[in-house]
Amino acid sequence: MEDNNDNKKSSRRQFLKKGLIAGAGVVAGGSLLAAYVDKSKPTSGEKVKVLTTEGELVEVDKALIHSPRVSIEESHKGIPGRKFVMVIDLAKCKNARKCVEACQKGHHLPRSQEFMKVYLLQDSEKSAPYWFPKPCFHCDNPLCVSVCPVGATYKRSDGIVLIDNQRCIGCKFCMTGCPYSTRVFAWKDYPEYAEDKEPYSPEASSPGKEGTVSKCDFCPDLVRIGKLPYCAQNCPMGVIYFGDIDEDTVTNGSETLRFSELIRDRSGYRYLEVLGTRPSVYYLPPVERQFPVESGFKDLEESVKNRFKNTPYGKTHKL
Ligand code: SF4
Ligand code: SF4
Repeated sequence: MEDNNDNKKSSRRQFLKKGLIAGAGVVAGGSLLAAYVDKSKPTSGEKVKVLTTEGELVEVDKALIHSPRVSIEESHKGIPGRKFVMVIDLAKCKNARKCVEACQKGHHLPRSQEFMKVYLLQDSEKSAPYWFPKPCFHCDNPLCVSVCPVGATYKRSDGIVLIDNQRCIGCKFCMTGCPYSTRVFAWKDYPEYAEDKEPYSPEASSPGKEGTVSKCDFCPDLVRIGKLPYCAQNCPMGVIYFGDIDEDTVTNGSETLRFSELIRDRSGYRYLEVLGTRPSVYYLPPVERQFPVESGFKDLEESVKNRFKNTPYGKTHKL
């Protein structure tokens, strides 16, 4: 048992360190700390060790680490040697919506735009309803990419599908092409966009732009510096695991698991896999749920609650 835990801890450390080193590789000499540490940010008190290109291990406050955004050209190249995957454990989701809010905040999005959407699904009249968080699936056979007339949306070597809003003409073909409705359209220049003072990068999907499409980006700007995506970092239930399918490792920040074992032992599946899209997001079925579905309505805003009115559950419970 002891060896296995050490292995797990070491693979998580390896996995996170690999992300950080990949980031460090692009910064020459002593400017690492300056480039990666934003002293204007509030500190968290949590220290992490970062490796400088001189091989020096320096301790910095975790909250201060940020990655300078990569250029549009650089964003076409995936993070070398990686193939990202996400696993969502439906047995643990209670619709806390911290994933949605953290993602919106991290991407400077208005409340009306959600890269992560939480649905209430019920597979049959007789089965119990359950909460279903849905980001972009970063499909290996992305229909959205194949219909874009200007090449504004593209698939990278690390599996991530991004959109360049400097190239997007807002035709919405990709929104029609995507069978999972994960994309959102900017009907106007929302004030939240202007809050982002950093240069635009498709890796951060920010600042947004009126008349263009955007979506979940798997947060490569965070992964580059060894952090998990906003949704995975902020889910209080540890529902969202993120990792590398080639490394066969995923973590939700508190536990690290072998991806292949998790999918095998928990009957993991991909949503509407029959469509042939080959999503990079897997689900663990909602068995032995930890919460009654009702708890997901507690403190829910009326505008959000209304979305579930016409679901089978909503009708039977007169929401
Ligand atoms: S809306 Fe933008 S990204 Fe989507 S298909 Fe049109 S040009 Fe491409
Ligand atoms: S991976 Fe990132 S962009 Fe996608 S839903 Fe999570 S926080 Fe949002």
